Amino acid sequence: MDSTVQNSPAETRLDAHSPDVTAEAGPRAALNGVVIHYHEIALKLGNRRFFEQQLRRNVLRATSVLGVKDVLRLSGRMLGILAPGADWEKIAAALRKIFGIAYFAPAVKLEQNMAEIKATAVKLLTDKNFASFKVDTRRGQKHFPMTSPQINAEVGEHIRQRFPARVDLSQPDLTLHLEIVDNYALMYTGRIEGPGGLPVGTSEKAVCLISGGIDSPVAAYKMMKRGVKLIFVHFHSAPFTSPASQRNVERLVEMLNTYQFRSKLYLVPFAEIQQHIVAHAAPSYRVLLYRRAMVRIAEMIAYKNRAHALVTGENVAQVASQTLVNMKVINQAATLPILRPLAGDDKQEIIAMAQRLGTFEISIEPFEDCCSLFVPPHPETRAKLPVIHEFEAKLDLQPLIERTMAKTVQKEFKL
Ligand code: ATP
Ligand code: MG
Repeated sequence: MDSTVQNSPAETRLDAHSPDVTAEAGPRAALNGVVIHYHEIALKLGNRRFFEQQLRRNVLRATSVLGVKDVLRLSGRMLGILAPGADWEKIAAALRKIFGIAYFAPAVKLEQNMAEIKATAVKLLTDKNFASFKVDTRRGQKHFPMTSPQINAEVGEHIRQRFPARVDLSQPDLTLHLEIVDNYALMYTGRIEGPGGLPVGTSEKAVCLISGGIDSPVAAYKMMKRGVKLIFVHFHSAPFTSPASQRNVERLVEMLNTYQFRSKLYLVPFAEIQQHIVAHAAPSYRVLLYRRAMVRIAEMIAYKNRAHALVTGENVAQVASQTLVNMKVINQAATLPILRPLAGDDKQEIIAMAQRLGTFEISIEPFEDCCSLFVPPHPETRAKLPVIHEFEAKLDLQPLIERTMAKTVQKEFKL
């Protein structure tokens, strides 16, 4: 019996599962893989192969530099193969941000052989503290000669004889997971939660209008989580807004890029259009006219990138421009759908999400938004389309929009 095993609950912290990826043979089992599970429900959307291929690509994009050599698609899950010396902490941090993953675990990949399974179980549990345990087998492959309950019983008994721990099927300190799948047996003890959602790239592309505020980065996160790949567009009013404000937006995109690995940001110089609107339209209609011009430009960028929707951080009734009537009038400038994933969220919920994401700290830095320039004290809350059309006829924005597009700068972000 192993004298190092104490009667205290097994640790479930991440560092308790650090795989001994460099160990060849030693007292501990060499954790040479990472099992990745996704929610089956996602697959009901249709194309399973497409979903899995995109998830595999995303995992490799984020982790190959960290030591994941390959990702195998097994039935119903994936297996990342770890190179010796792989940086597990960094791999786990990366996997936590890959949408589509329900949970993952560092694992031992071994042959489908009961003697080897039992020996590996003992090695794997040697440095763990647990007073109770259970073995939980899932058999993806029915040709294995034993049923899951038989495997649980036999491996469980083998463990019970070697550790001072009892079997507890309802609330064990430790669960030894065993997956008999394709040509492998996979064994692991700790599950780490993934972010859920769908792999980025499985739900086409959209253009996200990103300001430096709190809302739009959260809106971006929510859409990426649904598998949408985003192209970012920011309107600035240089020289009236500072380079620091633009830099803040770049930092936000850098942070959001960690979920989609490659991003484009279009920086659109908007001051000329704004000044033109200020000179020719009633003050109360300015913000709506800005927004409609923004939507038109964002749409040109969307068509250029084969994107099929726009995304904004608008939130019903948060500010004067965000009444339903005004949202309708903004939509009427667009041919693509405008997605507003925060429409029904409370500000407190949005702030909490921004804090979790890490964008909050950047968003609350002093910032000059182009739309807070030249804004009247009483913006229209119930804009009328005929009035808008009257102003827009006078404005003749199209040549200005073309000029603005020509001066737009594009930046690329890579992980
Ligand atoms: P945010 O916190 O995202 O700035 P907000 O509550 O301040 O949102 P508004 O300033 O009215 O609301 O902006 C509504 C939405 O319009 C933003 O969420 C964003 O999608 C878009 N938007 C506003 N200003 C800009 C900008 N300068 N560049 C790009 N998009 C913008
Ligand atoms: Mg704003």
